[in-house]
Amino acid sequence: MWTYHPELLETAVPRYTSYPTAAEFHDGPGAADMGAALDAVAEGTPVSLYVHIPFCEQICWYCGCNTGAANREARLAAYLDALDAEIALVAERLGGRARVSRIAFGGGSPNALGPLTFLTLAHRIQSLFDARTAEISVEIDPRGFTRQWAGMLGALGVDRVSLGVQTLCEPVQQAIGRVQPPAMIAQAMEWLRLAGVGSINFDLMYGLPGQELSDLAATLDEACAMAPDRIALFGYAHVPHLIPRQRRIDATALPDPRARFAQAAAGHRLLVDRGYRAIGFDHFAKPGDPLAMAAYGGTLRRNFQGFTDDAADILIGLGATAISSFPDRILQAEKNNGRYRMIVDAGRLPQTRGLFRNAEDRLRGRVIEQLLCQGKADLSNLPDMRVRLAPFITRNLVRLDGASLRLMPEALPYARAIAACFDGYRQPDVRRFSNAI
Ligand code: SF4
Repeated sequence: MWTYHPELLETAVPRYTSYPTAAEFHDGPGAADMGAALDAVAEGTPVSLYVHIPFCEQICWYCGCNTGAANREARLAAYLDALDAEIALVAERLGGRARVSRIAFGGGSPNALGPLTFLTLAHRIQSLFDARTAEISVEIDPRGFTRQWAGMLGALGVDRVSLGVQTLCEPVQQAIGRVQPPAMIAQAMEWLRLAGVGSINFDLMYGLPGQELSDLAATLDEACAMAPDRIALFGYAHVPHLIPRQRRIDATALPDPRARFAQAAAGHRLLVDRGYRAIGFDHFAKPGDPLAMAAYGGTLRRNFQGFTDDAADILIGLGATAISSFPDRILQAEKNNGRYRMIVDAGRLPQTRGLFRNAEDRLRGRVIEQLLCQGKADLSNLPDMRVRLAPFITRNLVRLDGASLRLMPEALPYARAIAACFDGYRQPDVRRFSNAI
């Protein structure tokens, strides 16, 4: 059982999918820096690609992604033309030197595109990059997913599909503007399995409006019965001042912090009891899954997609908003689709903001990643952290032994708050981030 220490969770903290976090991005770093980073990629370097499709058939009220309705064909076609042009630009700069180890399609919902359109896009990437052995993953919205889509994913050799499930409780689905009967999820699973997609992930959420502990338990039970290989269980972050579409959610129906904590704890316990291995603070995987093996073997990493077994140090984002990460810099493409298209159509790389990581950033980033992925970190070369860690030390949530810091099993719900102690950029700001639980 986790112990509830509300005072340790009252400050909102980043999710630390990068360090420094996206909150530190600023104007200045841009296309020239992206070009220089691509030019510097050495022969045979493993590189991951992320391809952003910022469209969905239906927009969910809780969604924080850069996405819009896929109801205007001309807009979609124009975006895909620009994306194609960016892909060609990046491939040309890389000159065949990179070995693409992963291709992740996300958004938005890649299946807002027709299956043939998506296949053409995937083949275009495969033809322009050295991607013969690349693992391919695709995020899928079960609403509107079809047998044809599943067949295409199988034919393409897609390794992993992530299904946006969130909750299987119908009143909660109504409250978040995403209604999808459990039978729809089960059907998608069946089509995917028949098509030969070997690994399926469910994205689920707690802390949703009107969601009771019993609703969450029922959803998790039902989800486990469908046997996805991985489950990500995220806490819903209600930040309508940042995400206007969340204003449609009834804030008075949201569980309070104590109830959120209870849901996170119960969800964790239930999934572990059902045989899933806990990965980091919000992912779960079957014991033989590569993510679980990475966690066992100490090679788990954290990147913009969350916890991952992806070992590549370079991630190239393609599409509007997409983030590219290199050891010494993080760069983000123009967020506005119209401006993104104009930039790329003019033959320029679309990165318009980002940051450079100095030696201290890299040191702190390594500590934060170690803590979140391995539950321990080597604090050599950092200033004395005892004062900042004191609240966690006195509650026996961490153990500091010389320069070696270890999270205790009870520390999991506080992992992000502990990681924030090593964030050199801020005293955490309550408006910009989500609660750690
Ligand atoms: S389907 Fe996914 S990306 Fe699209 S609006 Fe819903 S949550 Fe956002």
